Amino acid sequence: MLFLANPNNPTGTCLSFDEVKRLHRGLPGHVLLVLDAAYAEYVRRNDYEAGIELVATSENVVMCRTSRKSTGWRACGSAGCRTRRCRRCHQPHSRPVNVSGAAIAAGIAAIEDIEHQERSREHNTRWLDWLTQEIGKLGLQVTPSVANFVLIHFPETKGRTAKDADAFLMARGLILRQTTAYKLPNALRMSVGTEEANRLVVGALKEFLAKTA
Ligand SMILES: *Cc1c(COP(=O)(O)O)cnc(C)c1O
Repeated sequence: MLFLANPNNPTGTCLSFDEVKRLHRGLPGHVLLVLDAAYAEYVRRNDYEAGIELVATSENVVMCRTSRKSTGWRACGSAGCRTRRCRRCHQPHSRPVNVSGAAIAAGIAAIEDIEHQERSREHNTRWLDWLTQEIGKLGLQVTPSVANFVLIHFPETKGRTAKDADAFLMARGLILRQTTAYKLPNALRMSVGTEEANRLVVGALKEFLAKTA
């Protein structure tokens, strides 16, 4: 099985559909290609496809999607509403995650709220560009992202590393994600937030870099 997160997390980068098709052509027929398109809704690039066409035309391609990233359906989609009792009685071939009736109702409502999703996408496009530019202006490298987060790279210099920045931001109530577990020890992943949150993070990063200059 070949598992491809496209767009990828935590880099926010993606492969074009041509590249995905080339990858698929090169695979032996017995290898299952799993396309994880969790962030597909946010991609504005014309050469990207989540892969439904490949699923329809091949025997060995599966595509995964989630409603959690684009609908804002977080509270009920996450562990809070998944019940312990159900998880304990799982059979090997049953679904890996159970959700409560309330969570299912909330999920359906969220998926049906197309207007909200379109607003989220527009908000994301606008602020993803803004964050990439503004953080870049501070002298930090930002991986160009097509998703709803940016990966920010920090200098190796003592006092200016990702760990130092994380502590500095945390003390101000700004929570980014360390990416050490992804073998990116000197970077932080920041989700696109509200205008207020985005501006606060950029302001705090500016302060952080000035303090340690
Ligand atoms: C969030 C995410 C998912 C799906 O998360 P669920 O909570 O299971 O819906 C899948 N793949 C990637 C790469 C993700 O970031």
